[in-house]
Amino acid sequence: DKCNWLCQRKCPVNRSGLDCITQETVKFKAQISEELCTGCGICPKICPFGAITIINLDVDWGAPIHSYGVNSFRLHRLPFPQKGRVVGIVGRNGTGKTTALYILSGALIPNLGKYDEKQTDYTKTLEEFRGKELHTLFSSISKHQHSVSIKPQMVEKIPKAFSGSVRELLHSINTEKTPSVARDLGIEKILERKVPQLSGGELQKVALAVCALKDAQTYFIDEPSSYLDIRERLRAAGFIRGLVRDSTSVLAIEHDLVLLDYLSDNIHLMFGEPSVFGVVSSVHGTREGINLYLDGYAKDENYRFRAHPITFMDKSARDKKKQIPLLSWPAFNVKQGEFVLNAEAGMLPIRQVIGVLGPNGIGKTTFIKTLAGLITPTEGELPQKIAAAYKPQHVEAIPNMTVDEFLRERMGKESRESKHLLVEPLHLPSLYEKQMDTLSGGELQRVHIAATLGSDAQLILLDEPSAMLDVEQRLQVAKTIRNIVEAQEKTILVVDHDLMFMDYVSDQLLLFEGDTGMKGSVRGPLNMEDGMNGLLKQLGITVRRDQNTKRPRINKPGSVKDMEQKNANEYYYTKA
Ligand code: ADP
Ligand code: ADP
Ligand code: SF4
Repeated sequence: DKCNWLCQRKCPVNRSGLDCITQETVKFKAQISEELCTGCGICPKICPFGAITIINLDVDWGAPIHSYGVNSFRLHRLPFPQKGRVVGIVGRNGTGKTTALYILSGALIPNLGKYDEKQTDYTKTLEEFRGKELHTLFSSISKHQHSVSIKPQMVEKIPKAFSGSVRELLHSINTEKTPSVARDLGIEKILERKVPQLSGGELQKVALAVCALKDAQTYFIDEPSSYLDIRERLRAAGFIRGLVRDSTSVLAIEHDLVLLDYLSDNIHLMFGEPSVFGVVSSVHGTREGINLYLDGYAKDENYRFRAHPITFMDKSARDKKKQIPLLSWPAFNVKQGEFVLNAEAGMLPIRQVIGVLGPNGIGKTTFIKTLAGLITPTEGELPQKIAAAYKPQHVEAIPNMTVDEFLRERMGKESRESKHLLVEPLHLPSLYEKQMDTLSGGELQRVHIAATLGSDAQLILLDEPSAMLDVEQRLQVAKTIRNIVEAQEKTILVVDHDLMFMDYVSDQLLLFEGDTGMKGSVRGPLNMEDGMNGLLKQLGITVRRDQNTKRPRINKPGSVKDMEQKNANEYYYTKA
């Protein structure tokens, strides 16, 4: 509504008398002729609404598999489900994972880039893929012989579609198999609960159950880890692997790379520019695929999609850091309703990131709030109060406030000005003018992370910063947290269930143990090795390091490596 056609007036091609930027006839929006555009890059810089992206590709990806319209998103190539295997997909949001999923499930007939010719059947698609792998698949899809079952990404939307009990929901799909699926996912106790009363983690497990109860040839699992703690993630991964039989396949999209690695037999990378274009890479073995993703280089396509590779530090180097105390506490305990938390005496050092590990409902938030002086201990007394900034697990939008107004209110002047540390790495400038309540979940998360990290407080607490972020954003947030702690006199506590994220950001670890909802205890800060050993021992898994990237990888249970590490009591390797 506010567009005043500045792009059209300034485009050098238009100024020379040609119709490069024109008005489209239906919605009267600006339209760019991709033939006439020289890619000079003027219009994206001057559009006051950031509505234009111009990308000069140095690779010809050929015709897309699907395009939503002129100047709209286009997807090149498709991931390929393989019988008897879990094929993982790693990549940024907005690069067409859902579009690919719609095409493979038969919900969207691909137009092969010819968006002005509406496709009503698969004739053209079958012609295009004659003699290729996808031909058989499209042939079955066109004959309705390819059944699919989908675990959607946004499980929080399920209560809007179903208000009955979990049992009613599961029985409506398959009564006979409900008991075994409920047992495998550990949801027997919530079967009588109404769906709208479930927590996020419970909804995730119910969504997995619904998906598994449908008989299908291909199961699409979109982000199974959201809302789940590490133990639940591993259980979900085992469950998903159980869906694979000789005649069935699983395609899984996941941003927790340790989990994706554990879950998958093969990997496709998805890269491109969110909302602009997406490319699906050829298929790789899991280890190679994830390493290529971290490297930022699609080997077979000979395309670098990130300027810098992501590498992991040798953790033992961090143990040698100096310990200058910011805050110390004596042993204390806190009661919250039925729940009791016991904390050992401990100390938080300056210029370190302390990872906080443990299941849900075990007192992590209670502990953090006690340190911040928001809760008074039942026994024991914290000697000093300290200014703390806190990002809660569930971030909220403030109505009638722009991102810029919110950040001005929360961030210190210095942080706003040192843009290279915080604002730019988190890609916030393009969000400044937006109202907070129009942001996506991932955008809101990044804004809150910046507001908390950029506050003047010396003690920063981030509760589940990886939630709702895609893999690339997680890597950026992890790097940003490290940059802040290296540059400023701060201590940052991070609670998260993404193991690779925690491995990357943490100098030391606080370890929570106990019974969910009843009692919890906290140990530490412990060095990375002791902390991770404690956690992994509880989980019964061992972790090694990839030789090239030094990223953590879960050993296959019962494998030689797993047994060796368990026997040596080395559940977690600090070195590659
Ligand atoms: P992902 O699942 O990887 O986040 P999607 O496949 O949902 O990506 O979407 C990729 C891009 O395609 C989106 O950013 C959006 O701009 C565009 N898109 C999706 N659906 C439509 C549609 N029906 N019409 C026009 N553009 C769409
Ligand atoms: P975590 O952060 O590890 O998920 P919390 O510290 O939020 O765990 O909660 C631990 C337990 O304490 C939970 O079982 C929760 O139900 C209970 N609890 C938390 N706050 C209160 C409260 N204000 N009143 C009663 N019980 C509470
Ligand atoms: Fe015109 Fe293309 Fe330059 Fe934009 S990038 S101003 S459309 S020539």
